[in-house]
Amino acid sequence: MNDRMKRTPVTEQAPEVRAKNFKEVCLGYNEDDAMKEANRCLNCKNPKCVEGCPVSINIPGFISKAKIGNFEGAAREIAKYSALPAVCGRVCPQESQCEGNCVLGIKGEAVAIGKLEMFTADWSRKNKVDLSQTEPSKGKKVAVIGSGPAGLTCAGDLAKKGYDVTIFEALHEAGGVLVYGIPEFRLPKDEVVKAEIENIKKLGVTIETNVIVGRTITIDQLIEDEKFEAVFVGSGAGLPKFMGIPGENANGVFSANEFLTRVNLMKAFKEEYDTPVKAGKKVAIVGGGNVAMDAARTALRLGAEAHIVYRRSESELPARAEEVHHAKEEGVIFDVLTNPTEILTDENGWVKGMKCVKMELGEPDASGRRKPVVKENSEFVLEVDTVIMSLGTSPNPLISSTTKGLEINGRACLVANEDGLTTKEGVYAGGDAVTGAATVILAMGAGKKAAAAIDEYLSR
Ligand SMILES: Cc1cc2nc3c(=O)[nH]c(=O)nc-3n(C[C@H](O)[C@H](O)[C@H](O)COP(=O)(O)OP(=O)(O)OC[C@H]3O[C@@H](n4cnc5c(N)ncnc54)[C@H](O)[C@@H]3O)c2cc1C
Repeated sequence: MNDRMKRTPVTEQAPEVRAKNFKEVCLGYNEDDAMKEANRCLNCKNPKCVEGCPVSINIPGFISKAKIGNFEGAAREIAKYSALPAVCGRVCPQESQCEGNCVLGIKGEAVAIGKLEMFTADWSRKNKVDLSQTEPSKGKKVAVIGSGPAGLTCAGDLAKKGYDVTIFEALHEAGGVLVYGIPEFRLPKDEVVKAEIENIKKLGVTIETNVIVGRTITIDQLIEDEKFEAVFVGSGAGLPKFMGIPGENANGVFSANEFLTRVNLMKAFKEEYDTPVKAGKKVAIVGGGNVAMDAARTALRLGAEAHIVYRRSESELPARAEEVHHAKEEGVIFDVLTNPTEILTDENGWVKGMKCVKMELGEPDASGRRKPVVKENSEFVLEVDTVIMSLGTSPNPLISSTTKGLEINGRACLVANEDGLTTKEGVYAGGDAVTGAATVILAMGAGKKAAAAIDEYLSR
């Protein structure tokens, strides 16, 4: 492979070092490496990378500026499309989106679009580039529920168009999964997430935290009493699923969301914080998705031996290949083709082990993946003192059950059309609340579409 076909390598903390700290794993490019990598881009006439981006960033446009060291210009180009570039550069599944479509990837390695986006956004933050540009006020109020990527994007786009936007957030901090779910070592909170939220606030967006819509105030009250003319619901899918096996209520069993929230949002990994979290000596993380990888790598950093327990084989793991690779490098143990049947407890009700069976792969099921079936006489006990269930999440029904005329489907997701319009006039929705657990960029794409539709609705 000639040099043009190979990526400029990016530096990372060594696995044995990072497995013991919460600092960011990827150290990113410096200016020279960013320009070198940008110069690999062929500036295709018909750029397939843009088609692969759910918010259609002009990727060759920003890269052509980075090529010549005009990083401010590159940041301004990205800001036309995305309010969270430092986040997306770090957590988007680029390999199946922009980079997955890059023509260089056919015979060699795709341009490192994600790492270039991360570099550009970090450069613009460090150099205090002001990206806030808004139209004159329209004098119309819009309420946004939830401050995850869907809500933040919708709010930012509407504020740019001159709407008076207030975000209502249930937690004490804004950011949704970006602050409570994705660990610090993949996405630094103070330096990256909070800084991008500050940029959205600079557009004029107000964020009211500690407001649980459906309890503190309802959507109907926001419209009738508080005179909001449109509402966007971006309340995510934060309700964890469990297996329903005996012992799941024992002390020492967490949902991945609870475990990660305690560590990320409540800073349980810092000595000066007194948030309780018990990672134990040996932890089983049940599930094979990205959330399971995050929980395992977090447990490992808290000093535990971390086991991923997954019922299919390694090739069916739903987590991103990069996450699995990083987890393995750091020492996470993968117990695949293994399914828990019962959680065993000691006389005080604490976890002391997990009964499991070994599995085999049978015929493909409805999802097209080979169905795991129990191997006969394969029962064994995995001795663990903590279990983290990471089996997916669904939307919390609080909002739909407290709003007149807001319908949900059989998966508890809000029913909305292509533009995000729900079954209630003036109420739009997007992100995980509509799709179920998905990705940051899809939530952002939905927030963008809904902002355009709300603008059209309020301009009539
Ligand atoms: C651990 C973990 C790791 C992940 N890793 C990745 C990754 O690497 N890459 C990727 O692309 N995606 C990842 N995801 C998925 C991604 O984070 C989500 O798809 C995305 O955050 C969804 O955005 P959202 O805005 O729809 O919802 P959320 O981010 O869930 O935000 C919803 C917000 O609404 C608030 N809220 C809920 N109910 C109410 C209410 N009644 N009143 C007021 N506020 C309310 C919540 O507190 C929350 O702040 C991960 C998810 C998890 C859990």
